[in-house]
Amino acid sequence: MTIVHNLGFPRIGARRELKFALESYWKGDSSRDALKQLGAELRQRHWQDQAGLDLVPVGDFAFYDQVLDMSFTLGNLPQRVSGFRGEQLDNYFRVARGRSAHAAEAGHGCCDGVAAGEMTKWFDTNYHYIVPELSAASAFALDPTRLLEQLAEAAAQGVKAKPVIIGPLTYLALGKAKDHSDKLALLPQLVAVYVQLLDTLAAHGVEWVQIDEPILVTELDAAWRQAFTLAYERFKPCRVKLLVASYFGSLLENRALAAGLPVAGLHIDAINGADDIAPLLALLPADSVLSLGVINGRNIWKTDLAAVLDWLEPLAARLGERLWIAPSCSLLHVPVDLDSELTLDAELASWLAFALQKLDELRVLAGALRGGRASVRDELAANQAALAARRASPRVNKPAVRQAIARIDASLGQRKSPYPVRAARQAALLNLPLYPTTTIGSFPQTAEIRRARSAYKVGTLDAAAYTVAMREEIARSVREQEALGLDVLVHGEAERNDMVEYFGEQLDGYAFSQFGWVQSYGSRCVKPPILFGDISRPKAMTVAWIGYAQSLTSKPMKGMLTGPVTILNWSFVRDDQPRSDSCKQLALAIRAEVQDLEQAGVRVIQIDEAALREGLPLRKAEWRHYLDWAVESFRITANGVDDATQIHTHMCYSEFNDIIASIASMDADVITIETSRSDMELLDAFDHFNYPNQIGPGVYDIHSPNIPSEADIVHLMQRAAERIPAQRLWINPDCGLKTRQWSEVLPALRNMVAAAKTLRARA
Ligand code: GLN
Ligand code: ZN
Repeated sequence: MTIVHNLGFPRIGARRELKFALESYWKGDSSRDALKQLGAELRQRHWQDQAGLDLVPVGDFAFYDQVLDMSFTLGNLPQRVSGFRGEQLDNYFRVARGRSAHAAEAGHGCCDGVAAGEMTKWFDTNYHYIVPELSAASAFALDPTRLLEQLAEAAAQGVKAKPVIIGPLTYLALGKAKDHSDKLALLPQLVAVYVQLLDTLAAHGVEWVQIDEPILVTELDAAWRQAFTLAYERFKPCRVKLLVASYFGSLLENRALAAGLPVAGLHIDAINGADDIAPLLALLPADSVLSLGVINGRNIWKTDLAAVLDWLEPLAARLGERLWIAPSCSLLHVPVDLDSELTLDAELASWLAFALQKLDELRVLAGALRGGRASVRDELAANQAALAARRASPRVNKPAVRQAIARIDASLGQRKSPYPVRAARQAALLNLPLYPTTTIGSFPQTAEIRRARSAYKVGTLDAAAYTVAMREEIARSVREQEALGLDVLVHGEAERNDMVEYFGEQLDGYAFSQFGWVQSYGSRCVKPPILFGDISRPKAMTVAWIGYAQSLTSKPMKGMLTGPVTILNWSFVRDDQPRSDSCKQLALAIRAEVQDLEQAGVRVIQIDEAALREGLPLRKAEWRHYLDWAVESFRITANGVDDATQIHTHMCYSEFNDIIASIASMDADVITIETSRSDMELLDAFDHFNYPNQIGPGVYDIHSPNIPSEADIVHLMQRAAERIPAQRLWINPDCGLKTRQWSEVLPALRNMVAAAKTLRARA
């Protein structure tokens, strides 16, 4: 009989209960006990939600991050927090969030300030984990308390528990050796602690342990492949059964490695790695469990259950008890419950599945495998009806959009003239000084702006009054920028809640959930909009605001748009066409906006691609393909304008070295990037590539309340000018200023303008 299980459940709560409890605790408004109590309640509720599964994940709950939990389990804490004598949970939050020396002085802490652990993206998801800190001196010591407590809790509730841990190779791979030492040299001692952990779990009656090794879907060199085998050989004597779990992609050349590990079972992502199944059947030992992730844990769409059964039934017949089924990965990456959604229209909702609905789908599949399709006839019929309606819906398929995509040819992505010709025409028209100054788009989102927006949303402020309020904010931004003496102005984005949502709300083919929150890091959640249909732009989206802003000044006003790749990468997207097709539809819609702005007399247009790098596939071999369509989409968006119109793009903090050729082929006239923290070293990539167009390297770290001095900025720009000719440099902050206060922004920008003047005088 097929075993049904889950790999992990969203921990934040259907109403983001964990978020609010954490923030209240951090503020000092509630007790540690109350927070712990809420954690226990969430675990209990989520285990109940998963009742009926044969195995339920335990240990996937984390107060902040599962990787940080694992670091505590392994006793791998940064040196700077060792010796802390308070509660473990508080020390855990110190690593997660840091603690400023200032807070310590104010009597909130025990000791000096502590830097937070570095945070980075979990594979190709939008979840961020706290990077394990490693060095040649790292030592590990088992602390199984958290896991054992949760197991005891689960046992008391009659949960069929399967503890979940992160495997040693993935843990090491995700870690960062601050001293650049060889991380694999730590493996023997790390593995020894894992052996203790597995023995401890066995002694507590655990039968199966899920050990996550998602790095199996990435390219591994010989040393890492060998390390895999060595490590898992050491686990052979442990008296628990190990299910090695890979997800987020295909094993490809790692198939034999994964299948050859001396463990009881292997879980693979059968959505992204369907091609692995047939070869694995031949490679796996005859008694090995094969767990197939048949429900997509990364999207919000209903599964085509009949289509899955068509290929799954023969496998079930062949594998019998050896076949397990599950979602493709932890459900951490999807919202909790579709039934919470009261404002989504019924038709669209009928096409969707959030975490709870995905578990229901799994139960239907299991029912069909165990009792035949007839035993779940109604569920399967409802599923088929919903999918058929989605496929046939005129809201999804718009022939006009399809025809426009089919008509795309190379000319659409081509500017009329090469950069030097354009640059000369733009210079003549814009007449900017050396080291022109600008900002990245947003100005502080003040309490008044937020209040007006929410009043407008609930209907206590009408459209006309809302427009007046936003225009006042725009006018304020323009006044301040003129007083500062900036060269290229922005309207300040007061009317935008979010750089993706704002455009999604105005495009046909997009929908928005009320509670579709997904954890991004710690207590932070995002609510990605749902791209469900062919994309079109019913009318201009930004022209009225930008036009108004331009009417207030004789300085050039920069039009501000979000690019197609970023909109795509920050949305839940369709599963019925390639991402590249959705991206090109977005590109055509934003292209039309670019052209409308140009028509309205806007001479400088910025198209933000903050998330371009985020979309890179896990395997380097697949980068080329992604970068090709991503760059093409940007070019389609940007390049329908006259030579005299200056196109800017912006990217947040990124490594540029390995994608610089693609950045250059985007061919924006100006690119602004986040560089201030790197002391301009990020510009090396541009320097070595001989990047030909203009660059605005950020000189103001907008993530910090610190105000850079004129001297700081002059220093940074001198560092920049060592790498890029001054004639091609702009001066600007790292990113948008929406999270800062006016009281910080004004002195910082004043110093920026002063620095520009100093540099011009020296030139
Ligand atoms: N134009 C946007 C802003 O200034 C860019 C934000 C971003 O890059 N994340 O807010
Ligand atoms: Zn940015």
